[in-house]
Amino acid sequence: MARQRHRILLLLALAVALAPPGRALAADPPAAPGPLTPVPPVAPAPLTPVAPADGARLDAGWSVRFQVQTTAPGDVRVIISRASATDADGLLLQGDAVDLGYASPNRLAPSIYEWAAPAGDAFLHRPGTYYWQAFTVVGPTGAGRLGVAGPVQAFDVALPASARARGRIPRAIGRARDGASFELNLRGVPAAIDPPRFARLVGITARRWGLRRHGTTSAVPGVRDGRSVVGFGTRLKSGALGEELEYVLRTYRQRRTCYAGICSAAGPRTLVSSRVVERDVVIDSRVAWEEGPEYPSGDQYDLETVLIHELGHFAGNRRHATRCDQSSPMIDTIFNGEWWRTPGDAFVVCPTPQGTGQVSAAGLRPARRAGRLVTRQIVVGELVRAE
Ligand SMILES: [Zn+2]
Repeated sequence: MARQRHRILLLLALAVALAPPGRALAADPPAAPGPLTPVPPVAPAPLTPVAPADGARLDAGWSVRFQVQTTAPGDVRVIISRASATDADGLLLQGDAVDLGYASPNRLAPSIYEWAAPAGDAFLHRPGTYYWQAFTVVGPTGAGRLGVAGPVQAFDVALPASARARGRIPRAIGRARDGASFELNLRGVPAAIDPPRFARLVGITARRWGLRRHGTTSAVPGVRDGRSVVGFGTRLKSGALGEELEYVLRTYRQRRTCYAGICSAAGPRTLVSSRVVERDVVIDSRVAWEEGPEYPSGDQYDLETVLIHELGHFAGNRRHATRCDQSSPMIDTIFNGEWWRTPGDAFVVCPTPQGTGQVSAAGLRPARRAGRLVTRQIVVGELVRAE
């Protein structure tokens, strides 16, 4: 309301300043009545969207240049929103906003203001319909107020069906282990997650690594019981979203020496084999998950991403990929709001997100929290072969 009042005062001030001199004396009895010059209406210079066109379809993952034409005074900003609702001033609601950019004048056409949303901004990767709007802020830095708000325009961020297909995980990312199977525990599924949805996600993800889901069980994942189980739980390492546990039986070779007819194994032991006798995957049930097919919001972790990762360990991929070297689900950490679902449907901020200046300062992005994707070997037995 205060903003509205400021604007009205500003308009009144402008109206007085622009009024012809005779107008100020209008209250005095006119000496010789003459024709009054009408006061021209003081309309703020409009903001005219230039690009992208209203309703444009943009390919996910690419930078986009938002352009408006205006001669209005003040700084030009661009707001991107998930919803088209506006407030009393006609501005898109801050609460729905997903990004905010500061536009600057184009060098060749100074009445064109533009902001290139970087390809690293999340909304450019998350398919869906968005709304954008340019507006001006007038007044001193830090205490500016709304000047003029342009019209709200829509655009779609689109991902081709081919990028969405849940095919085999490419060999370059990790090896599959065809035929290996596990049982699914649906008992620990947290209330916020639909158990059939979870079962379907696990089934689809398993196939992508060559694994087989072999029925359901009440056996608890993360407990050594001779059964390989995938499910939710709460006993994980601190900061872990998911853990793949490998129970290992180790066999060593040791030299047998005999002295005076008494033989014993002595000296250094050599590891001969390390056999995994059971594998469990535990997903933390206390995390704010996005179960899909929607994409995780800034304060959620992506369940499918964590399943792809942990079942990737289950398939025999022990090593982690380097976060910034390649697009892989096998990186050791993901942040809230990130995902890796297919090689063409992924959003992992690189370098590791620290918050990106003005945008996080505007409060549009929740703080980044790292979630670790763990694999652990637990030695459950050692055999020594003396020879
Ligand atoms: Zn891992």
